[in-house]
Amino acid sequence: MRPDLTVLCDQHLRPMKISVVFIENTPSGQNWNEVYVCDSGCGRKYHPQFGYFQLDGFRIQEASQSRRDCPRHSGQAQYLRSQTGENRDWVCTEAGCAG
Ligand SMILES: [Zn+2]
Ligand SMILES: [Zn+2]
Repeated sequence: MRPDLTVLCDQHLRPMKISVVFIENTPSGQNWNEVYVCDSGCGRKYHPQFGYFQLDGFRIQEASQSRRDCPRHSGQAQYLRSQTGENRDWVCTEAGCAG
């Protein structure tokens, strides 16, 4: 996970912090994952493979999942980098995409 990125919560537009969390139901089967977490206490998280999501216990809540696939990098979910007025800037974590 790249620490130099500014990943905004898709609900609060606040910068998220990297944290390591335990997730039971990842597609990869990997349980410990570095994810970005909203520090406003909303529980929103972002991971480049899952997009934005919330956990129910240790499981990704499918209803909460919001995933935008990057048109330039397949398999990568985009994150919200900035918002200017109504204009939201979505990129993925691949170098060059995030600029
Ligand atoms: Zn939030
Ligand atoms: Zn991309």
